[in-house]
Amino acid sequence: MLNVDEIRKDFPILDREIHGKPLVYFDNAATSQTPQQVIDVIVVYYSKYNANIHRGVHTLSQEATDLYEQARIKIQKHFNAKHSHEIIMTSGTTHGINLVASGFTAFLKKGDEIIISALEHHSNIVPWQMLCERTGAQLKVIPINQEGELILSEYNKLLSEKTKLVFVNHISNALGTINPIETIIEKAHQVGAAVLVDGAQACPHLVPDVQDLNVDFYVASAHKICGPTGVGMLYGKDEWLQKLPPYQGGGEMIAEVTFEKTTYADLPHKFEAGTPNICGGIAFGAALDYMNAIGFDAIAAYENELLEYATEELSAIDGLKIYGTSEHKTSVISFNLEGIHPYDIGTILDKMGIAVRTGHHCAQPIMDFYKIPGTVRASFAFYNTKKEIDALVSAVNKAKMMLS
Ligand SMILES: *Cc1c(COP(=O)(O)O)cnc(C)c1O
Repeated sequence: MLNVDEIRKDFPILDREIHGKPLVYFDNAATSQTPQQVIDVIVVYYSKYNANIHRGVHTLSQEATDLYEQARIKIQKHFNAKHSHEIIMTSGTTHGINLVASGFTAFLKKGDEIIISALEHHSNIVPWQMLCERTGAQLKVIPINQEGELILSEYNKLLSEKTKLVFVNHISNALGTINPIETIIEKAHQVGAAVLVDGAQACPHLVPDVQDLNVDFYVASAHKICGPTGVGMLYGKDEWLQKLPPYQGGGEMIAEVTFEKTTYADLPHKFEAGTPNICGGIAFGAALDYMNAIGFDAIAAYENELLEYATEELSAIDGLKIYGTSEHKTSVISFNLEGIHPYDIGTILDKMGIAVRTGHHCAQPIMDFYKIPGTVRASFAFYNTKKEIDALVSAVNKAKMMLS
């Protein structure tokens, strides 16, 4: 059981008032809030350890390097990667996806196929379109059903020996659907395709075991797991990362440079050109420590309670429709009120101190599927409460009266 009252004390921002009302933060799927324990790590880093890493012989640089590499090992352990060099520090999920998409340019030719899902975030669509343009490969899309679930029988039909890559998110940011990635990975491997899973939305709710999943690449962002923005990780199987060409040229990623030829540094440095977000990486490690100390099983159980309660309460509102009704979903509710634009609801909720997301959630194809301009999305974290959900329900009722 979570002690939510105690947990809330860790998050100074939750004391804020917005338009004179206590902040109710329900935009956790866009970014999570940061606990004092992580804020402290950032302050201590810049107060005591700030130096560039991997280069200096001086003590400060060595201390900063140690902290950064310890963070990498924390990330490795968290995701259960076999080697720490399989963890590439990135600026976030988008960076990790682009790194892999760019690298695959070397492996694809005309006639090859890439499969993605209809549940993807824009950042998971555009890089593959660009990769297809560069290589002549073709993009195929796994469709969804009315519940917002991938139709696996259609996926099976799309797979063939032409399939070289499959990309899916672990959990949809727009609808909260948990995708059956175990099956997706296994089927892809049967035809010899590699799989990249976008875990940005899954990592706040569960702990992916990359060896158990047997996934080839897995990406995540720290800022959705109580860490800072601008840092994330790409896990890649050693054999893939060895084969994949570097993404960016620069300092730190080379072994030897002459004007005739450059040889690349060993993993993970081959993919880490330039000075990284050192403080962010260390804070990412601290964020995982924080979440693990609370425990992901307890977090998931509590968030599920919030989801069930909010689903029940919101469904009772006449004219309210929820999109994404899979039995396998996380604490995200995307909804609309009949005849009212989601943006108008979001604006009124903000006036009452409630932060939700409105719009297409970077997932326009899903909105097209449901033939709607967008939704109001309330996404819950382990520091939210049923009392806050009551505030949302009463605010939605008020918005409905004002707008209809
Ligand atoms: C947030 C999100 C991203 C993008 O993450 P960035 O940190 O902005 O790079 C990608 N995919 C999903 C599913 C997301 O939720």
